[in-house]
Amino acid sequence: PTREEITYFGAGPASLPTTVLQNASSAILNFQNTGLGIAEHSHRSALSSDIIATTESSLRNLLSIPKDYTVIFMQGGGTTQFSAVPYNLLGYWKLKRARMDYAVTGGWSQKGSEEAKRLYGDESVNVITNSKKVFGSYGGIEEEKEWKRTEGEERVFTYYCDNETVDGVEFPGFPSSLEGGVVAADMSSNILSRRVDVSRFHLIFAGAQKNIGTTGLTIVILKSSILQTQPTPTTLRALGLPIPPIMMDYPILAKSNSLYNTLPIFDVWIAGEVMKELIAAGGLAKQEEVANRKAERLYAALGRAPGIFKIVPLEGARSRMNICARAQPVELEGVFLKGAEERGLLGLKGHRSVGGIRISNYNSIREVDVDTLVQYIDEFGQRNA
Ligand code: PLP
Repeated sequence: PTREEITYFGAGPASLPTTVLQNASSAILNFQNTGLGIAEHSHRSALSSDIIATTESSLRNLLSIPKDYTVIFMQGGGTTQFSAVPYNLLGYWKLKRARMDYAVTGGWSQKGSEEAKRLYGDESVNVITNSKKVFGSYGGIEEEKEWKRTEGEERVFTYYCDNETVDGVEFPGFPSSLEGGVVAADMSSNILSRRVDVSRFHLIFAGAQKNIGTTGLTIVILKSSILQTQPTPTTLRALGLPIPPIMMDYPILAKSNSLYNTLPIFDVWIAGEVMKELIAAGGLAKQEEVANRKAERLYAALGRAPGIFKIVPLEGARSRMNICARAQPVELEGVFLKGAEERGLLGLKGHRSVGGIRISNYNSIREVDVDTLVQYIDEFGQRNA
């Protein structure tokens, strides 16, 4: 098939805007008439510095990132941040006995909490809420007043995942009970899809391969003061705490302007091109409006065939980005996916750990793409009613 015949609803890597891909295909061969492809230029050239600065500036523009925040471009995906976050927030470790608070609302925050336990021991991690225990499976967010937070100076930081990609669970907004504390959030699958008040967070991270660009780039936005709180290796050793590997050490990466080692400039450029388009289209206020509208239409379509589709997450916790449903009887799922494929609607299979149907509704999915899928869902519902 040609690209025009395919709409890809995969959860990540996700599809990219066609214009960005068209520009990228010529940039990879001969970037801005330099005779060299973008992936061949030195990461230390003026051209690369310019790309890094432009992408950072677009990100700052889109998210209105305050001046006292630092942006770092890294590699290693979201998973590397599961280790890097606790390592780098150690400056908030005030007492010998300390706890890192994790809200576990799905598979990715679960993985994050498990890594913190692996690095610092089970007793250092306090799971303040565990959706699986509360609801029997991931699919909801417990009321904040029930969360069992660590009180006082023993708490190092609180961590949560803003959008659980596998389970289709998204926080409707900032959890207000965390206001004023040290908060770290994984926004890998919903960043740049709505406005965010960055000043409420000490740290936000996101792998690029869903709403930002290509796999290989991870963006970290952090309160610059964190960079001054980092204990020295000697202090850490005295406390019996692990020392971050150099490639996860935010102060070192920040000091070298994300160029401590070879950064994939191609990925940074792609991210910049995607952001340029988002800015031209009206920024995150607009993106939020469009994402909400697309998600509402998809949930509504699934809701029109309640005998056929069952939306997995509970109302109030449903993600705008990853819409998870089961077909019933379950054999219909294969029929649904096959019919979708015949129409060029790809990537609709749920994550291998949970199965079912998952519609990923990232920024690159246009309203007309949603129309096509909605029409198919309606037809499928009627045919099998
Ligand atoms: N966090 C979230 C919310 C994700 O969706 C993913 C991947 O899908 C990850 C973390 C892990 O990212 P990576 O595969 O880039 O390590």
